[in-house]
Amino acid sequence: MQITRNTRLLVLTGAGISAESGISTFRDKGGLWENHRMEDVATPEAFARDPRMVWRFYKARYEHSLQAKPNPAHFALVDLEKQLDRNFHLITQNIDNLHTLAGNRDPIEMHGSLRRCFCTGCDAHYAMEEIDLEPEIPLCAACGAPLRPDVVWFGEMPYHLDRIDSLLKNCDVFLLVGTSGVVYPAAGFVMTAKYLGAHTLAINPDASSKTEAIDEFHLGKAGEVLPRLVREWFP
Ligand code: NAD
Ligand code: ZN
Repeated sequence: MQITRNTRLLVLTGAGISAESGISTFRDKGGLWENHRMEDVATPEAFARDPRMVWRFYKARYEHSLQAKPNPAHFALVDLEKQLDRNFHLITQNIDNLHTLAGNRDPIEMHGSLRRCFCTGCDAHYAMEEIDLEPEIPLCAACGAPLRPDVVWFGEMPYHLDRIDSLLKNCDVFLLVGTSGVVYPAAGFVMTAKYLGAHTLAINPDASSKTEAIDEFHLGKAGEVLPRLVREWFP
């Protein structure tokens, strides 16, 4: 499928696009994320039970993300945005800030961001860099209540679903990068896009992530395949 400047392209990225930046994916390690079981660190129940542990985990993820650099796949998406301008939209399941760091204008962070937190009492929002991360449980400067990371945990509603819905309805090509086409919400998005007439493309080194809803599957690593495809589309 040839992409041109007139193609309305919607991209959805998952943990796989950041693998080559040294940020490990979740499912690739048998359900462990940095040696933690997901349900021990990424649920509202975990935070209610042991907020210190959850904060320790996210502080470490945040510190780690400050060291991480975008890889050629992230930069290929910046090139695509330059070519397509307003016809380009990017949704990410990642919380690592690498799309912004690479230079994409307005990535839709449907699972929030490691770089932000908010108050469980008064809902004030903060950038991580402006709060005191010393206390085991950082506290709100406005009301003193505990802060929590601004990431969407299992069992919580992803952000920006209305906007995503309208983008799915208005794209010609839907491209999945580094996220399995099998797991929700990505699986639902790709089916919706296809049902509404979009051409669907996926890039993944795991052949088993290809589903019937994917028209065109590119087997391989995002950092190798995506820059090559972008050079083919815009030589
Ligand atoms: P996942 O971890 O479930 O799956 C990652 C996918 O990436 C797999 O299909 C795998 O085959 C593929 N992959 C691995 N290496 C790749 C590469 N080099 N190039 C392309 N694809 C590659 O991914 P997910 O569904 O995005 O993760 C679940 C949730 O965990 C996410 O929604 C996210 O919120 C969170 N998470 C975020 C990060 C991050 O911010 N970087 C990292 C891990 C998990
Ligand atoms: Zn507060």
